[in-house]
Amino acid sequence: MADKGNSPQSGRLELVDVRRTFGNYNALDGIDLTVEPGEFIALLGPSGCGKSTALNCIAGLLELSGGEIRLAGKRIDELQPEARGFGMVFQNYALFPHMSVRKNVGFGLSMQSVPGGEAAKRISEALALVRLQGQEGKLPGQLSGGQQQRVAIARAIVIRPPLVLMDEPLSNLDAKLRLEMRAEIRGIHDQIGSTTIYVTHDQDEALSLADRVVVMSEGQIRQIGTPQDLYERPNHPDVADFMGFRTRIPGRLVKASNGHAAVEVSGTVLEGIAAEGMAPGDKVLVSIRPEDLVAVDEGEGLKATVKSIEYRGRAFFGLASGTDGTELFFRADRTYPRGASVVLRPLAERALLFAEKA
Ligand code: ATP
Repeated sequence: MADKGNSPQSGRLELVDVRRTFGNYNALDGIDLTVEPGEFIALLGPSGCGKSTALNCIAGLLELSGGEIRLAGKRIDELQPEARGFGMVFQNYALFPHMSVRKNVGFGLSMQSVPGGEAAKRISEALALVRLQGQEGKLPGQLSGGQQQRVAIARAIVIRPPLVLMDEPLSNLDAKLRLEMRAEIRGIHDQIGSTTIYVTHDQDEALSLADRVVVMSEGQIRQIGTPQDLYERPNHPDVADFMGFRTRIPGRLVKASNGHAAVEVSGTVLEGIAAEGMAPGDKVLVSIRPEDLVAVDEGEGLKATVKSIEYRGRAFFGLASGTDGTELFFRADRTYPRGASVVLRPLAERALLFAEKA
């Protein structure tokens, strides 16, 4: 087995104002990120936000249009991908179909002219780490999707890279296998003591795997934080949206003190957690998770009309339309017919307020 004593001394990775344009489109619009050795970082964001572009710039598969990338203090953004020597794992595995598992895993070592005996030992260690002993002689086409992805992981780590880069490695696997492989990937990272950057659009995957999550949208980093930071305190409406705060209600702040605020929304007043510097009169967005916007039959709250509702185990979850047409995702303890009038009450300590873009 590979051990931490043999792991690469990767050093700190720094991205400084990294930019990448395609024509006049800014796919990466000034990215600043520092990754410490041994960290597991997830790049999370919706399709098209620039995650793969960022990873490919780190790998050297794409040139930068501006900015710098440094590893252990040395600039690497002008080096060819081979000279960077990072391990890459892609969604489509990218294995050589005509080569055995053993040859696929050993390919990088032969490119680095690692002597036969040492190469054989390292291949066996890598195969043991991904639990593929006994499958060495098979061709990729004779393996399941999960096994093929394990070969790709073994191939990436066998070269003892300073950095392992993974681009949606589990998206081609079924849900059960995805969960199993997720735990294995984190286990392998911990065992070899590598630094890993992992691209995903799956919030659960990012939160469960990473030490820190980098949330991107529109070519920019919106927030960097631990999974708990992001889940509890998203600092941008796009991050909140991604963390499950599906309802966004526009309103105007009427009172704020000690981080709490009252917001007027369609003739009613809601309470929530204010950001620093918010003042009465400001236009704001109230972001709430469905489980924190509760339906009652009458009383104070947002008046709304039920559009759909479904039973999900312990509670009902539904979509309603506010008097101004705002979509409201709510929780209820009973079902309501389509078209029913309900009153929706946000839990004040769970509703986040964001300044609305002018
Ligand atoms: P996904 O999750 O769908 O893979 P992503 O966040 O990884 O999305 P990127 O692949 O980084 O997104 O793409 C970011 C933006 O840059 C997209 O709008 C995409 O269309 C554009 N883009 C990426 N590669 C190219 C290219 N070679 N030529 C032109 N535009 C590109």
